[in-house]
Amino acid sequence: MMDNKHSYSFGFLDEYAKKEIRRSLLKAVAIPGYQVPYASREMPIARGFGTGGLQITLSIIGENDILKVIDQGSDESVNAVNIRQFIAKTCPGVTLTKNTQEATIIQTRHRIPEIPLKLGQILVLQVPYPDPLIVVESKEEKRKKMHSEGDYARLWVKLYEDIVQFSEITISHRYPTRINGFYVIDPSPIPRFDIPKLNHSHALYLFGAGREKKLYAIPPYTNTEPLSFSDIPFRIEDFLDETGERRGCIRCGSKTSFLDEIINNNGDKIYQCSDTYYCSHQLNLKGHE
Ligand SMILES: [Zn+2]
Repeated sequence: MMDNKHSYSFGFLDEYAKKEIRRSLLKAVAIPGYQVPYASREMPIARGFGTGGLQITLSIIGENDILKVIDQGSDESVNAVNIRQFIAKTCPGVTLTKNTQEATIIQTRHRIPEIPLKLGQILVLQVPYPDPLIVVESKEEKRKKMHSEGDYARLWVKLYEDIVQFSEITISHRYPTRINGFYVIDPSPIPRFDIPKLNHSHALYLFGAGREKKLYAIPPYTNTEPLSFSDIPFRIEDFLDETGERRGCIRCGSKTSFLDEIINNNGDKIYQCSDTYYCSHQLNLKGHE
């Protein structure tokens, strides 16, 4: 419905477009890990800058929602700021926040927040490539058949070849993960560190690939397992220093968070939490000790 006070309809997309996306999302939730095709709309940002995630967010958001937008863990990066401003402009009444705990919807690229998500929260991930089989099969028709038959043999061979050649699985950021014992998904370019957060999460995960016109979901309390071999288990980034000790964040001191490596003015490597809200939250907690 067009609102006289604003030049856009609420959520920018028209109601039919939003309804179609919500219907596709229901299907995605009903069949965890299945890539549901949808009619991806043109958005006033370029494809590849999060149009898939944005369309999901705009289709599910309501006036009572509290929205957080992050990019690589930061609320302040250009992509996050632009998307937040766009949503503020097209969704009057929606509250914007940086606080992970109070957000009802979190749109993100490349990270899952450090603070565990709660039941009722929705994490919307921006996805560049939705299909993990793209690395072994270029034809979509064949990939669809392989998914429907649960035939991931060629993906397993690829992982095995990595181990033979490099002694470990080299996929670091789009780690193939099996959902509910069947479909294997590309969990978008999140670090391996974040993969365990998908398993039996309290929150609902929604994935949107605008350019590829696909969306998929991991409902709360779903079994998710990264593909791995029994003798070479899946492992996350360990952030150990030369002496084998876990590195900490230079700002808040956390030794459990995902760290970004930064080169300071002296040319030294320093490490800082990639989740900026978490880092500030840890500092605040310390201040009250
Ligand atoms: Zn920190």
